[in-house]
Amino acid sequence: MKNNEHGMSTRSIHGSGFKDAHGCPHTPIYNTTTFAFPSTADLLDVVDGRKPGALYTRYGLNPSIFSLEQTLSGLEGAEAAWAFCSGMAAETALFLTHGREGIVCIGDAYGGTLELLATQLPLLGIKTHLILGSEIDRLDALLAGGAKLVFFETPANPTLELVDIRAIAARAHARGARVAVDNTFASPVNQRPLELGADFVVHSATKYLGGHSDLTAGAIMGSSELLLPIWNWRKNLGSMIAPETASLLARSLRTLVVRVRQQNASAQAVAEAMARHPRISRVFYPGLPGFPGHALAKAQMHGFGGMLSIEVKGDGAVATRVADRLRLFALAPSLGGAESLVTQPCTTTHHGLTPEERTRRGIPDAMLRLSVGLEEAADLIADLEQALRS
Ligand SMILES: *Cc1c(COP(=O)(O)O)cnc(C)c1O
Repeated sequence: MKNNEHGMSTRSIHGSGFKDAHGCPHTPIYNTTTFAFPSTADLLDVVDGRKPGALYTRYGLNPSIFSLEQTLSGLEGAEAAWAFCSGMAAETALFLTHGREGIVCIGDAYGGTLELLATQLPLLGIKTHLILGSEIDRLDALLAGGAKLVFFETPANPTLELVDIRAIAARAHARGARVAVDNTFASPVNQRPLELGADFVVHSATKYLGGHSDLTAGAIMGSSELLLPIWNWRKNLGSMIAPETASLLARSLRTLVVRVRQQNASAQAVAEAMARHPRISRVFYPGLPGFPGHALAKAQMHGFGGMLSIEVKGDGAVATRVADRLRLFALAPSLGGAESLVTQPCTTTHHGLTPEERTRRGIPDAMLRLSVGLEEAADLIADLEQALRS
């Protein structure tokens, strides 16, 4: 089956095309580190790449892994995908392969990404530049200065700020740079950056792709040519996904589309209820007509997503009390699962920043970030209302 012949749901279920000898409708867990060959000639055919085949699990040459990768590539409309043991492992392999001449990160990003870019990659002599969305005018000069990889999240954590994928891709390509989008927040159901001109998509599959808060994994999608050199880095960094996790992730992908569409609808309902609430001063959600990124979201997304942030009237302590009173929204720093989660950025994801830096980034202390799960939207709204009432 060619990857983009069918719609998203069909691709998520039939995308791997892998059939084992017994006709199993989905790839079994090949819980093995190595694979035996009938002869040295057969072994060399696989080692030298003349024939596809299973060889050694850390290389990704294991059917549980390569069948998962076929499904993952189809979901982003990519030629190829590599799976990893975490989202950070995927980002690290991407940066070490394609970011060595310099990386520009636009806007807010995941805490681990910012730490890697700001403090760790520079130790290896890699130049990294972190600019805010409002400082986008600096991009051309940084690219002229030699940076060859532009990286960003859209929508970004926790402000849901959007970046125009088409516009940034055009500017980067004009200067010979590549563009990588962290598509974790949107998921391929809501946004497919490669179709908009990006060169790479990275995912923390720990979030929506896994979708049940029970696995840690990552992925990179893109053209075969650009993904090929990443393969060796993954192999020798040893950041391979385990066969059991690959199988669990492949199972989760079969329900990705229905989960995400339900989460989109519930997040819209929660956002609208919060926008009307007298104790809420601001709602950050791309699906609200008043949100600054709404027009761009309509142009580049297929759905507005399951993530939103709210700003409670009052200070950070008031927001903390609201978070502590929620019963259905669990207080936990992740997202994308079946259960709804809440985090207060100033006490968790952005705790390490100074108050001035949080203000500069537009992250008020009274902000709560919500990951809307698969519970009834009415129950979630009632939970927020009781927490805001007291
Ligand atoms: C969680 C997350 C990551 C890191 O993923 P892990 O699987 O925890 O390594 C990267 N980017 C975004 C947007 C995330 O939410």
